[in-house]
Amino acid sequence: MDDFTLLPDEVVVTRNDDVIYGNKTLFGNGSKGSLILTSKRLVLLKKGMLGKIKDVSSFALSDIIISNGQPQVQAQKRPFNPSMDVYFRNGEEHFRFTWPDEAAEFAAAVITTITGQEVKVVSSDERFMEGAVAAMEKINHLANRIRRTFGLESTETMSATCPGCGASLTGTDGETVKCPYCGSYHTF
Ligand SMILES: [Zn+2]
Repeated sequence: MDDFTLLPDEVVVTRNDDVIYGNKTLFGNGSKGSLILTSKRLVLLKKGMLGKIKDVSSFALSDIIISNGQPQVQAQKRPFNPSMDVYFRNGEEHFRFTWPDEAAEFAAAVITTITGQEVKVVSSDERFMEGAVAAMEKINHLANRIRRTFGLESTETMSATCPGCGASLTGTDGETVKCPYCGSYHTF
């Protein structure tokens, strides 16, 4: 089988030695291998039983579809089957990783290599926290609206800066207060 050799002007960007390529069935499995991202292509080294390389596949980065300036490379961060899906002009390829963050980081590296632009990778934990905080805020807001609707006073005080003079004002969500210093109105 072909060996993998870098072209004279090609450099390795990153690699992952625990990638599965091909369709997953109930009992496993596509083939195991190493996925190498170079400045020009994705190289998959498929390994046989004893870890020996039995096949080398090469996918040119220039064949990846670019849509609205975005290379079509997507990380699927599902916990049990994380993958990087790459859409080439002649079809799509799926590379499966052990961990969701590995798929996300590899996909970001591919995109950065193609576009030259850094991609921020949000780890699963951060993303979860962002979602949780946003959900909490939404619930809080909703609770305040319900309290107002039923004529119950919101007990939560908020502070703001007066738009007129910069003095600090306090009030409750949805309340309109008049600034004691300059007479401006502010709605919380
Ligand atoms: Zn004021």
